[in-house]
Amino acid sequence: MTRALVSLNAGSSSIKFGLYRLDDAGHPHHAAGGKIEGIGTAPHLAARADDGSLAIDRRWDDGAAMTHEDLLGELITWAQGHLGDNRIVGIGHRVVHGGADYASPVRIEDAVMDRLDALSELAPLHQPHNLAAIRAMTKLMPDVPQVACFDTAFHRGRADETTRFALPRAFHDRGLVRYGFHGLSYAFIARELARTAPELVAGRVVVGHLGNGASLCAMRGGKSVDTTMGFTALDGLVMGTRCGTLDAGLVLHLIMHEGMSAEAVETLLYQQSGLLGVSGLSSDMRALHASDGEAARQAVTLFVARAAREIAALCTSMGGIDALVFTAGIGENDSLIRSLICERLGFLGLTLDPAANAANARTISAGDSRIAIMVVPTDEERMIALDTVACLGL
Ligand code: ADP
Repeated sequence: MTRALVSLNAGSSSIKFGLYRLDDAGHPHHAAGGKIEGIGTAPHLAARADDGSLAIDRRWDDGAAMTHEDLLGELITWAQGHLGDNRIVGIGHRVVHGGADYASPVRIEDAVMDRLDALSELAPLHQPHNLAAIRAMTKLMPDVPQVACFDTAFHRGRADETTRFALPRAFHDRGLVRYGFHGLSYAFIARELARTAPELVAGRVVVGHLGNGASLCAMRGGKSVDTTMGFTALDGLVMGTRCGTLDAGLVLHLIMHEGMSAEAVETLLYQQSGLLGVSGLSSDMRALHASDGEAARQAVTLFVARAAREIAALCTSMGGIDALVFTAGIGENDSLIRSLICERLGFLGLTLDPAANAANARTISAGDSRIAIMVVPTDEERMIALDTVACLGL
């Protein structure tokens, strides 16, 4: 193996990354993965090699002024050392919004960046940071091709009734539609199911990506048929700091009668709502479990109730359900949330195996459950690597 790839998933204060060696057939083999956290305060770069050993653990306690570009420079210098003789031949990026233009990964060039910049207002929490990482890498490695891999792409091709808002047609025609997000995660899960449970992937599956951002995807035959996020990643479930589905009339009320500016409403709905807003305590589910306060309990119950309601609703898009799959931080680790959601869905034929659920086992349904219930860890960085290989023809 002489070639390597880097996958980047850049957010406002953290960057997740994966390094992959490519074999002659272009198949990516995981070489290391980790995170840069604390950007803007005290940056911390940590990665584990494929055998699980710590490959780097570096802190800059006085590094508040270090930019994404500075830190990506540190990452690439370390990565080149770690990869040894393997030359980096491609860089893949998670880009949240591909809009109406992009249904599959695309190689970055100036015209592409102009179009992606224009979509930033639709994903203000993510898109500007995704694009900043692309610009930084263009400076750091100008000769290495880069690819944008979109969270919206997996959801393309859905039926009209799952993408259309009940607005006058002209709005739909200019791209005001329900796009859906978390597509890299869903594409990875669909691939995993195809590999390990082909009988399920052929059926009707709801996947719950429950992390700081949270959404559901109804899949049939490994393809998205419906999803809870819409035009932006604000819609659908209760999230760490995002409100999820909201009466549009409430937004009008805040602006027209409570004097809030559009910018203040944006901050409220994206950054101050969800688990954080309801609990008044934290956006982190673990902190809410640890609290015995009433508001924290209400936040957890609201999260669970809305997730269960939307799972049941998605069954109507598939004519039933054969499997429920949990993934992402909460979905993979939080047995209490899984059990509370499944309890509410018992009427559909879901029964958990409590011991398997407590152990975060891959199959957590009881033997007599009519519906399979599974925990499948997601790996968006690997999906980015696979998309990048395909896009660049490596
Ligand atoms: P992001 O959307 O930022 O990638 P994650 O998928 O990491 O988010 O999910 C973050 C959420 O997952 C937090 O609410 C956190 O409490 C929860 N979480 C992460 N790890 C665990 C764990 N081991 N047990 C319970 N919850 C966890």
